[in-house]
Amino acid sequence: MKSKSYFVETPKDRPSTWISYRQALCANCLASCCMMPVEVRAEDLVRLKLVTPDEIQRSKKRVFKKLKRERWVSSYREGSELFMLQAKTNGECPFLDSHTRRCSRYEDRPQVCRDFPLRAGPRIGCCPYEPRRLSSAISQRNRYIPSRRASS
Ligand code: SF4
Ligand code: SF4
Repeated sequence: MKSKSYFVETPKDRPSTWISYRQALCANCLASCCMMPVEVRAEDLVRLKLVTPDEIQRSKKRVFKKLKRERWVSSYREGSELFMLQAKTNGECPFLDSHTRRCSRYEDRPQVCRDFPLRAGPRIGCCPYEPRRLSSAISQRNRYIPSRRASS
């Protein structure tokens, strides 16, 4: 008799399907939250050493132009002063190590990454956990994803 296999499907475009976050999940996760658009603040860019405090002080718009040229950010919203990190072509955060599925700048990661999913994200307390063994099939499928916005 054919055995049945079950898994929880948690595509990033449907937060209603996300599961309750527990820290233990992260160890075996594909790091799907690091494949969501990431909006960061000026102080995050300084902590990541992409710009200096002086540059930020002088002009955030000039900072945006510089970082866009260098392909670190893709957009800047003047009203909320949020910069969108430039994702890799496969949708991953530029700081995600594609092989280990770990953040390569964990100590300096943006505040929104520290807050997700308990204090930031489209569904507080829940996240799009994806076990690593399902990664190839699922990552092909997920294209549109909601952002983990920094709170304004
Ligand atoms: S999606 Fe959830 S379980 Fe996976 S790394 Fe992010 S916070 Fe951890
Ligand atoms: S900065 Fe690090 S924790 Fe934040 S989304 Fe990128 S890889 Fe993930």
